[in-house]
Amino acid sequence: MPPHPLPNETMSQEMACPQCGKQLIAIEYPYDHPDFYDGVSEWACIPCGYHRGRWSGKLLGDGETEPKYGRKR
Ligand SMILES: [Zn+2]
Repeated sequence: MPPHPLPNETMSQEMACPQCGKQLIAIEYPYDHPDFYDGVSEWACIPCGYHRGRWSGKLLGDGETEPKYGRKR
């Protein structure tokens, strides 16, 4: 299943990376991911490695993922 396009509202948010100022990209987890959600789960900056949770707003460490709706594990 190809990734579905994001709604315009999401695209127009134009969030910049606080570390390097580049545009953040939306990360969606695959279906077999433990934290799968049918939509954006994190915002990330590939060049500098910054990523944060979509709901929690927390910085995610290496290999860390955002639980669905930002709930506590
Ligand atoms: Zn960055």
